[in-house]
Amino acid sequence: MASNGEGAVGVIGNGPVGQTTALLLARWGIPVVVLDNRPRRDAEGSRAICQARDVLDVWAAVGAGRLADEGVTWTTARTFHRDRELFAWSFVDRGRSRLPACVNISQVRTEQVLDQAIAAQPLIETRWAHEVVGIDQDEAGVTLRCRTSRGEVGLRVPYAVACAGARGEAVRRMLGVGFDGRSFDDRFLICDIRVELPGWETERRFYFDPEWNPDRQVLIHPCPDSTYRVDWQVPAGFDLDAEQAGGRLDARIRQITGERRYEIVWKSVYRFHSRHADRFRVGRVLLAGDCAHLYAPFGARGLNSGVQDAENAAWKLAFVLRGWAPPALLSSYHAERLSAALENLEVTSRTMDFLVPRSPASGTWARRSPPLTRAGPSRDGRPAARPRCRRLACWSPTRRCATRSARGSRSSGRSSATDCSRSPAAAPTPRAPRWG
Ligand SMILES: Cc1cc2nc3c(=O)[nH]c(=O)nc-3n(C[C@H](O)[C@H](O)[C@H](O)COP(=O)(O)OP(=O)(O)OC[C@H]3O[C@@H](n4cnc5c(N)ncnc54)[C@H](O)[C@@H]3O)c2cc1C
Repeated sequence: MASNGEGAVGVIGNGPVGQTTALLLARWGIPVVVLDNRPRRDAEGSRAICQARDVLDVWAAVGAGRLADEGVTWTTARTFHRDRELFAWSFVDRGRSRLPACVNISQVRTEQVLDQAIAAQPLIETRWAHEVVGIDQDEAGVTLRCRTSRGEVGLRVPYAVACAGARGEAVRRMLGVGFDGRSFDDRFLICDIRVELPGWETERRFYFDPEWNPDRQVLIHPCPDSTYRVDWQVPAGFDLDAEQAGGRLDARIRQITGERRYEIVWKSVYRFHSRHADRFRVGRVLLAGDCAHLYAPFGARGLNSGVQDAENAAWKLAFVLRGWAPPALLSSYHAERLSAALENLEVTSRTMDFLVPRSPASGTWARRSPPLTRAGPSRDGRPAARPRCRRLACWSPTRRCATRSARGSRSSGRSSATDCSRSPAAAPTPRAPRWG
């Protein structure tokens, strides 16, 4: 027998998209029941770290404004090809907004802050350990059947939002939704590393084909609490346990940190996909977030666009439930959010084709080499390609560093009694570019 949600909207999945959907609905005065199959929140890993201004704005509106304050606002984005810095650009000017263009903050912290906002919201009820195993619809509403430790329980609601994430295959299957697309062979090794790196605290660094990760890319993002999120692109079949046991993980990290003390806060290997649901609305159920689309992570469009789904779904459901708009309004949810997903997929797929060519022999690889090799001077007049010591952990201009003589050979990754061994305090702070 289905219990009555008393007009509550059912949200399937208590990830950040489900949390945001619930908070937005409650802001419109709509009661919500959030169902999740996990027993509780597991606080693990930075995952989606880079949140854009419009998303911070949504979170501020639902009582989670501290995410913008706690996150690291980056001022500079630096891009390198092998050992040359190609260009840098900055985000210093906020224009007329009180919010930064984007901040870096771990998904764990984002979910904690959203949970605090939910705890302060009497219209939201959270039910952990409720796995949705059946979705039945009729003209009047939706019955969500949940597997719990007390047996199967039902929840009768007028509408539901499926925010079941990338692993929400079962929910998509129950709704009869296809999820076509492409999965990439390469993986990303992701580590959150706590370390002091003076001068790097507000800089994002992207390395194409560095000598210390040949033929692939590395991305370094500053996060709060002196933590850096590092993504190394690695080949299919990469074995993290073997990497760690063989000391290669430490060697990788030391290419960045040098001899400084560091702590690995979290590590994981991540496979990326480009997929989307063929329908974003099935009758009285709307699909949002990773349950509806998966993008390659470059461009940070995953969670950012999931929050935009949540905002679109919440106001439309609220208008229909309050009688301010006819149910036909919900059709526009599919049209608008599918269009957004297709645009995001196009941009991220093109980015991935440039960043992750399928093989050196492929046309994409050939196409990307000339622009990287030719990269011209930066707009502030400085030469774009500023040769540096080949060891990343060394901040020396090449002319001052003894490893200059080793040009052409691979760095050992070990410290030496040259400029490479300078203390962090002596490391020059990178110059802030003058243009925005
Ligand atoms: C290792 C890793 C690294 C990542 N890095 C990045 C990154 O750098 N940038 C980026 O943008 N994104 C990244 N992501 C993706 C990012 O974490 C997701 O985009 C984000 O979590 C999506 O939020 P969501 O709420 O849609 O789904 P989720 O966070 O997956 O939440 C879905 C919830 O639904 C629940 N659920 C599923 N099925 C059911 C069911 N049948 N009944 C009840 N509950 C159910 C799940 O338990 C889960 O709690 C990363 C992900 C991982 C795993």
